[in-house]
Amino acid sequence: MSAVAKRIAALQEAQTLGMAQRVRELKAAGRKIISLLLGEPDFPVPEPLQEVAIATIREGHAPYPPVSGLLPLREAIAAYYHKNYGLPYTAPQVVVSNGSKQAIYNALLSILEPGEEVIIPAPYWVSYLPLVQLAEGKAVIIPTTVSTNYKLTPDALEKAITSRTKVLILCSPSNPTGTAYTAQELQELARVLEKHPQIWVLSDEIYELIRYGSTHVSPAQIPSLFHRTIICNGFSKAFAMPGWRLGYLIAPKPIADAATKVQGQTTAGANVIAQKAAIAGLNMDSQVLLAPVIRAFQERRNWIYEYLCSHLPESQPYLPEGAFYFFLDVSAFLGKHAPHGATMQKAEDVTNYLLEQGVAVVSGEGFGSDKHIRISYAVALSEIRQGLPQLTQALRALV
Ligand code: PLP
Repeated sequence: MSAVAKRIAALQEAQTLGMAQRVRELKAAGRKIISLLLGEPDFPVPEPLQEVAIATIREGHAPYPPVSGLLPLREAIAAYYHKNYGLPYTAPQVVVSNGSKQAIYNALLSILEPGEEVIIPAPYWVSYLPLVQLAEGKAVIIPTTVSTNYKLTPDALEKAITSRTKVLILCSPSNPTGTAYTAQELQELARVLEKHPQIWVLSDEIYELIRYGSTHVSPAQIPSLFHRTIICNGFSKAFAMPGWRLGYLIAPKPIADAATKVQGQTTAGANVIAQKAAIAGLNMDSQVLLAPVIRAFQERRNWIYEYLCSHLPESQPYLPEGAFYFFLDVSAFLGKHAPHGATMQKAEDVTNYLLEQGVAVVSGEGFGSDKHIRISYAVALSEIRQGLPQLTQALRALV
């Protein structure tokens, strides 16, 4: 009999992290691998934030932080959403966590009763399903395709709703497709949700600042959704601090209080060094601070899109409006064989084969599609210019 609880035994491992470990091992063994794998920016933490973090360490004191975060940070987060999105949040509605993954988990634990349903449009971020599972909810997946720009339609939403539906998870801009909802599209989804007042929207806005042209719209800006939206966001992407583990949720006060209770009995407050740095980040003009980063991402995005359209059109390239990923359809290569004989039955076979050929990407399975692979462009353009032709050549070598 296994010593591991069924709850955990049934849980999928994070595929992206598993692949990253394999790449580390191959590199350590001397293999040259181009990694288009990870969801972490290849930029340093902005200098002013580094300075604040260092100064905080030099202060020399390290008391336990308040469970829901330092008050000036919670105030800065509320003020940020007020200034940028006109949302009248206050500090007591903000709970700062050890990464936004924890914020999402806190939110789900706070609102789900066992067996309640969570609607998740696919493709989705890899951790939603396991987090719903851990919170004893039931994930209800709605597939979307490139024909609707990977967006959930009001019709599909309506059909998926039952009396057990408790949460709809939206991720805009999205990991893995880069799609982003417009105000009008959110308005249309809201019209469906208005008929079902028991449903909450969990809005994952972690890529909110990484956009190419259009501006971010939060579901909380739709008046009928304001009191039913839980925003989850963090500092891992735009502020390039994934290793400093800092995220947050903003929600109506009873949910924020419940999330604080969960966090108080699990990890307690997030690390103060990162919190102080984050205050400095939010007090700066994010457009100015991030302009060079966005420019670099946009240049890479444009290069990849043009490359794919002309060299790999069967991958159905979709021009991302935000985040830093492409989600490529590899169904045209399924059923084919590698030169050494392995058959490409699903996306995972393709990623294993590509890794043998020196390019690391993630299989779409964990994102809800066994016919796609995800590439990240959080790597230097020089690597991308080498990696994509190598990837294309390897796919073309399949027979
Ligand atoms: N949400 C999405 C869509 C993500 O892509 C990630 C990280 O990859 C997270 C949440 C979690 O970020 P963190 O826990 O580092 O704040």
